[in-house]
Amino acid sequence: MKIGVLALQGDFAEHIVMLRRLGVQTAEVRLPAHLDGLDGLIMPGGESTTIGKLAVAYGLMDPLREFGKNRGVWGTCAGAIFLSTDAHREQPLLAMMDITVVRNAFGAQVDSFEADLEIDALQQATGTTQPYHAVFIRAPIIATVNGRARVLSSLPDGRIVAAQEGRLLATSFHPELTNDMRFHQYFISLCNQD
Ligand code: GLN
Repeated sequence: MKIGVLALQGDFAEHIVMLRRLGVQTAEVRLPAHLDGLDGLIMPGGESTTIGKLAVAYGLMDPLREFGKNRGVWGTCAGAIFLSTDAHREQPLLAMMDITVVRNAFGAQVDSFEADLEIDALQQATGTTQPYHAVFIRAPIIATVNGRARVLSSLPDGRIVAAQEGRLLATSFHPELTNDMRFHQYFISLCNQD
């Protein structure tokens, strides 16, 4: 099992640490050739317009779309925005997942927060019952989940913060900034499916 992490901007190093702790081989992805031989890809948090512009500059847009047709791709925060079909702004988007997002939906950086989430799919897949402690940093919400995509988790007020479409995952929050490995384990299990 080898999982790449898109390493154009943002907190890719933290994802690599999590994957290594789970015994997975890793690779930093900056160019299309770096996708060769990977079983899955994580796109980190950071700044989605910057990530998108750099992906265009490095010729990564179509190779990423092609990669995601039959492998796992998980976007956290800015990475989730990059996966979406619409972020209500002019910026390069992969439009790989049938979700739309609203950027910075909880306010400014100082409005960042943490919350405990009940995520059934995650708890079932890992055989655990404790809630998932999620870190939101100037996070987007997932405004609509369409087509084959489904909601994985919402806040108590109903705002959607995680979605899945086949092997594609989008989370508004940052599992790489906690010690809870369950989301990375869940993603690895999706990458392992035939
Ligand atoms: N606010 C950033 C954006 O809209 C995302 C923040 C994050 O990845 N923590 O791109």
